[in-house]
This record gives sequence, C-alpha cells and structure tokens, in this order.
Amino acid sequence: MNDSLTGLLQFEDFLSQAGVVICDKKKAYLIVAADISDFHFINSNYGYDTGDDVLRKIAEFITMYLPNMVYCCRSHSDHFIALVCIENVDTERVFQETQRLKERLSSIIAETVQGVAPNINVGIYFVREGDTNIIDVVDKANIARRTNKGNYNIPCVVYSEHLMDIKESSAKILPLFENSFRNEAIRVYLQPKISSETKKVVGAEALSRLIDSDGNVIPPVNFIAALEKSGKIVELDFYVLSFICKLIRKWIDEGVEPITISFNLSRIHFYSNTVVEDICKLAEEYNVPPQYIEIEVTESVFFEASEMIVSKVNALRDYGFKVSVDDFGTGYSSLSLIGVLPVDVVKLDKSFVKESLKSSRGSDLMKGIIKILNEIHLEIVCEGVETEEEATAVSEYGCDEMQGYLFDKPIPTDEFENKYIKS
Ligand code: C2E
Ligand code: MG
Ligand code: MG
Repeated sequence: MNDSLTGLLQFEDFLSQAGVVICDKKKAYLIVAADISDFHFINSNYGYDTGDDVLRKIAEFITMYLPNMVYCCRSHSDHFIALVCIENVDTERVFQETQRLKERLSSIIAETVQGVAPNINVGIYFVREGDTNIIDVVDKANIARRTNKGNYNIPCVVYSEHLMDIKESSAKILPLFENSFRNEAIRVYLQPKISSETKKVVGAEALSRLIDSDGNVIPPVNFIAALEKSGKIVELDFYVLSFICKLIRKWIDEGVEPITISFNLSRIHFYSNTVVEDICKLAEEYNVPPQYIEIEVTESVFFEASEMIVSKVNALRDYGFKVSVDDFGTGYSSLSLIGVLPVDVVKLDKSFVKESLKSSRGSDLMKGIIKILNEIHLEIVCEGVETEEEATAVSEYGCDEMQGYLFDKPIPTDEFENKYIKS
C-alpha cells in the first residue's frame, strides 16, 4: 500500500522491505531522515492545501533526485525516511551532496508554493556491519535529524553516540521551562556594548538564562534549540522583550537617559502573521519609544530572503525599531546578502572576528568588509572582543561598537544597572 498523499511507501512497508535490504552485507547503506522545520506554521498560516503541496513536492523530489535511493516513505505528517545505497562511508561527501540537494529543493518549493521557503532538517545514519534491526537504525537517523533543528549552519547531522546525551537534555529542559514563568526561573542578563570612539557603554544585549531547581544557571546553548523545536521560544522572546520594555520605562521615569537594548528574535517568529503587531503593541503598552529597542535577527533567517521576511523586517523598522543581523560571518552566503538586507546594524560573529584576526590576510578581509558596510551606512558591532589587541584592531578597522568579555560578560540586570546606569 502507498501513502495516498505522496504516493510513497507506507512506513510499515518501508520497514519490512528496508529491513531485509540492510541485512545484505554485500553493499553499504545509509538512512536519511528528513522533516520540515516548523511545518505546523506553514499549515496554520498558509492553509492545509499549501502544506499538502509542499509535502507532494518533497516526495516527488526525493523520488527523482535522491541518488541511489532504494526505498523511501513518509512515516507521518512531514517526516520522510529513505534508504540509500552508498559506495563507502564518506561524511564530507554526504555533507556536500545534502547541501546541494537542499538548495535545489528549496528553490523548487519557493517556485511552486509562493512565499514559502521552509528549512529541511536532515539526519543521516550510516548502517554498520552489525545492524540488523531496521527500527534501531531509523531511530538513530531520527535522533540526528532532530539535532539538525536550529543548527542552520550545517546541512545535516550525521549520527554519533554523543547525540544521545543531547536528546536527554532536551527532555529535561521543556518541563523546566513550562514552570519557569511562575517560579522566576528565567533571568534576563545584560551585556554592554562599548563605543569604539568614546569607550563608553552605549547599549546592551539582553540574553536569557534558565535556572534549574538547584539554582544552577543553564546557558542558552542548552535550551534554545529545544525551545525552538517546540515553538516555546516565542514565549521566551516576548518575555525578554517585555522585561526590557519595563526596564527602559523605569529608566525614563527615573529621569535617566536610556541606552538602546537589543534582544534576540528567533526565526520562528517570522512564521506568525501578527509578529510585527505583537512587538509594536508591547512597546506601546509600556510606552517605550521604539528607538531604544533593537531587534537581533540571526543571519541564517535572511538566507531565505523571502519577501515575507523582508517585508516584516521593513515594517518593524518603519515603526522605529532598529534591526540588526546577528551572527554575521557564520553562514554560507554572507557577502551576497549585504546589498539586500533591510537592516541598520551588522553584528560580526565572534568566531568570524577571532578567525579573521589570526592572519594578516584575514585581518585585511575583515577591514575590507567593515569598510564596505560603513559605506552603505550600516552600523557595525564586533562580538567576542576578549583582548586589548582585538579591541584596538577592530576599532582601527572602523567598527562602531564592541561587545565582549574584555569589557564585561552578560550579567544580571540589577548588577548592570549599578555598574553602568546609576554610576
Ligand atoms: P548571540 O545573540 O550571538 O549572543 C552573544 C553570545 O556571545 C552570548 O552567549 C554572549 O555571552 C557571548 N559572548 C559575548 N562576548 C563574548 C566573548 O568575549 N567571548 C565569548 N567566548 N563569548 C562571548 P550566550 O548568552 O550564551 O547566548 C548564546 C546565544 O543564544 C545568543 O547568541 C543568542 O543567539 C541565543 N539567545 C540567548 N538568549 C536568547 C533569547 O532570549 N532568545 C533567543 N531567541 N535567543 C537567545
Ligand atoms: Mg544576539
Ligand atoms: Mg551574535
């Protein structure tokens, strides 16, 4: 029996047929598991017909273009699994091939389903000598697939034993987050941004922390992906935004000139039709002039550069918010994006800054990039400035602001106020 929507095999049939094949030890195989990031947002915002169209396009694509595909099925909703015959275990090649296929699939979907450019998560498991249980190997590909969510800089995740640890941590985070608003387990920390020219604090970034039941501080690397996966990140970001609105309001009421505070807006928000309204409403509720709020959007969001995203970002800027592109320099196509990004600020990622400053060629490249960005009137913030040498270099290259441990780590808000606002 085949799946009536896509014509692919049904899951049970896939399992029984692929189960026989993997036991044939004369050839090598891998399992691919794929799903669409935030598929429910496509259904709820564009309708189920559009969602169905996307699923059919993917099925068609896999059947036609996945090289050496043996069997393929849609296991449920937006989840696809395929068994692929390979020559040898070559991770690098799998990365390249997946990247190529994902780009092609994205453009096919964007052409046929207007305005929708979904990100596909891909997990890979290389079938080993001793593997005879098809359910086990499919599970492993799925664990890798889930790890690819929110990990936009790599085209796919290949299963390895340590991924099991990440899976367990995700199971711990969600229940903790559910109760966090009630028991104040979310804290907003602030990290200063320093003017290269005056060396004064001219802004700050709000960064969240989760506190576990023993009082330990959990850093964002351990919870952001889990919250994005579940959609809960939307609540977190709005919590952070209302927190900073309250703080700025308080400063104004106390007669203190506020500094601009930025917060991180997860890519998930862009699937909501009301995100612009919701953000503006919050600023109005606290009566905070929008110029004191900056919205950081991670570079990878702009890779899609869909009209949908560009128009939302423009609406936010029209209202008076500053918008910055975060993590600049970590993705694939940074430079080609510069001209089309509708933003005010570019934040050079700390890994890009560190890597560039290691060699004179890298430093020249960074100098050139900053010059270009300056010429098109973008403000530049360098992240991860840890030493005096780095601060001197990036200031000379023309970066406007610096953020990094040299000046301060992200610290609790009251500490920040005492150190930088009241003094
Ligand atoms: P980001 O937005 O790029 O934030 C900068 C990160 O770099 C922060 O990590 C900060 O502590 C770290 N950092 C700053 N200066 C230095 C330095 O000199 N050296 C080093 N090694 N690191 C430095 P943090 O707070 O762990 O946050 C990590 C990421 O998690 C953030 O990266 C942001 O993408 C995300 N995030 C944090 N809070 C939120 C939130 O409330 N909502 C959303 N959507 N994402 C958040
Ligand atoms: Mg940021
Ligand atoms: Mg950043």
